[in-house]
Amino acid sequence: MLIVSPLTGMFASRLLGIIITLQLALTTVFHFLGKQHGVRDIVQMQHRADLQALALELEIKATTDPLTGLFNRGKFDVVLGYELARAERYGNPLSLIVYDIDHFKEVNDAYGHQAGDRVLVQLSAIVSAAIRQTDLLVRWGGEEFVLVLPDTDGATARLVAEKLRQAIEQSGFDLAGTITCSFGVSIYVEGDSVDSLVARTDNALYRAKMNGRNRVEYASARMMSPSIAPSLEPRA
Ligand code: GH3
Ligand code: MG
Ligand code: MG
Repeated sequence: MLIVSPLTGMFASRLLGIIITLQLALTTVFHFLGKQHGVRDIVQMQHRADLQALALELEIKATTDPLTGLFNRGKFDVVLGYELARAERYGNPLSLIVYDIDHFKEVNDAYGHQAGDRVLVQLSAIVSAAIRQTDLLVRWGGEEFVLVLPDTDGATARLVAEKLRQAIEQSGFDLAGTITCSFGVSIYVEGDSVDSLVARTDNALYRAKMNGRNRVEYASARMMSPSIAPSLEPRA
């Protein structure tokens, strides 16, 4: 008994030591794993935020004109397609304005391409500031722009175009001085496609150019259904 007792005591204290060590080791492992998990969560959240930022950047690049910051043609096709469907389904009016800078080639020739670019930027800012948030302003290409006006009838669209024409004419453009634009206006008529509505509005713009520039012309009433054409007439 005298011999066994110390041995048992030694064994017990060793066992206790092993248990404490194991416990410490397990606590450390669990603590470490927990930390790892937390770090992994943070990294995953960061990855998700990075991907969302990248998606937004790509979306902006895909829909925006880099020079003016206006929407581009891709966005225009999507939005006008949607607005046409809405106009057809609910019978809401929908108008389109196309405008083009008059004699812009002369600006480039006289003051250089960079000055021409500045005119495009300034013009875009003037028009952006004058339209509704629900309107879609698009750089159609070169020095031609399109404005989609949802829930807007022909008479109102005409007033908008005239207001824009005057605002542009009255603005001073750095080197270029006075700049003017010609406008074509049309409304959606039943059965219109994106192409037919754009073609009709472009035709009105062409007439504005032919009739002396710095003016607003409407899509020919002959090209519209008789029930809709009168709404293009200006309000008394
Ligand atoms: P019009 O009154 O008939 O519209 O005459 P215009 O001179 O404006 O028309 P034209 O089609 O002869 O010339 C358009 C000019 O627009 C020529 C082209 O160099 C210029 N242009 C197109 N895109 C840009 C651009 O991004 N920057 C600059 N600076 N010029 C551009
Ligand atoms: Mg032009
Ligand atoms: Mg042009």
